[in-house]
Amino acid sequence: MNVEQLRRTFPDEQSCRSFFESIIWPDGPICPHCQSQYVWRLQSKNVRAGLHECGDCSRQFTVTTRTPFHSTKLSLWTWLQVMYSLICSSKGASSVAIATWVGVSQKTAWKMLHALRALMEVHQSVLPQLLGVVELDEKYIGGKPRYKRGVKNKRGHGTRKACFATVVQRQGPVKTALIGNDSVADLKPFITESVVLSADLMSDEHSAYQIIGRDFASHQSVRHGQKEYARGDVHNNTAESFHSTLERAKFGVYHWMSKQHLHLYTAEAVFHWNQRAPKEKTIQRGKNRGQKKVVMTRLPILEQFRNLLRLSSFCQVRRTENSGIRIIPAALPLFGL
Ligand SMILES: [Zn+2]
Repeated sequence: MNVEQLRRTFPDEQSCRSFFESIIWPDGPICPHCQSQYVWRLQSKNVRAGLHECGDCSRQFTVTTRTPFHSTKLSLWTWLQVMYSLICSSKGASSVAIATWVGVSQKTAWKMLHALRALMEVHQSVLPQLLGVVELDEKYIGGKPRYKRGVKNKRGHGTRKACFATVVQRQGPVKTALIGNDSVADLKPFITESVVLSADLMSDEHSAYQIIGRDFASHQSVRHGQKEYARGDVHNNTAESFHSTLERAKFGVYHWMSKQHLHLYTAEAVFHWNQRAPKEKTIQRGKNRGQKKVVMTRLPILEQFRNLLRLSSFCQVRRTENSGIRIIPAALPLFGL
């Protein structure tokens, strides 16, 4: 879908509102204050568009109440355009560029992007456990220390860089978490929570994985230290390629990811990665012509919008006194997602 098709799909504010309502309220409007379904739309000409009233608590609301889109004074069309830009920029979206395209200030674009990244983080938190062949890897991210003559700076472990762990299912979703360091104590809780015990793990030779792997159906590793990167089907190159997408976003777009917001940037990379589905294709050229192979294909834009918006009521963004933003994740229901 290109920008022109996007405008044709959402020609006015009412069509944007109906789209938001159909995703956030799939079973009809719900009062965000007391969760009652005994609600009605206020039809009078003098009330603002989409205003509803609750018969139980008598409070008024719209589809954006208690979501990151609440009281931002921005049109839903502006939000949709920023969502579109963010979803299309699979290697990271710059607030400066998006501000120019959409016609808002850079500060506003930055806040909107962070609000959407917070939604992406909610999306990650409800992903089911990974299964089948699952690759493990960890990565340290952070700037290089200032150059000093004769001083050789350490890399990764033992520095003040942020460490995050990644688990990725072959031809499936990825999950990440910021952890203290790459020890068993820090890696194990995340891995056992994110992966089913019947999975077949693959990793590099890092000693923590050898210990964690004992709890799972199987665990195989390659020896990166001896320049062994793949042994038949055994490798963790998929996890490493996820890390390189983050590295590219850091070098190309963000230049600097503060530790405070790092979890939002990683949530963005995770969302992009997970908005793809395996599709079988026939090879057209070369010696393998005619053979089938599975490639990961990006989901249609509207489906990605849906995935991003459907959990909006579980995340709120509020302004802080120093004109920053504060993200309030609401408690997620355990069932029904
Ligand atoms: Zn109510």
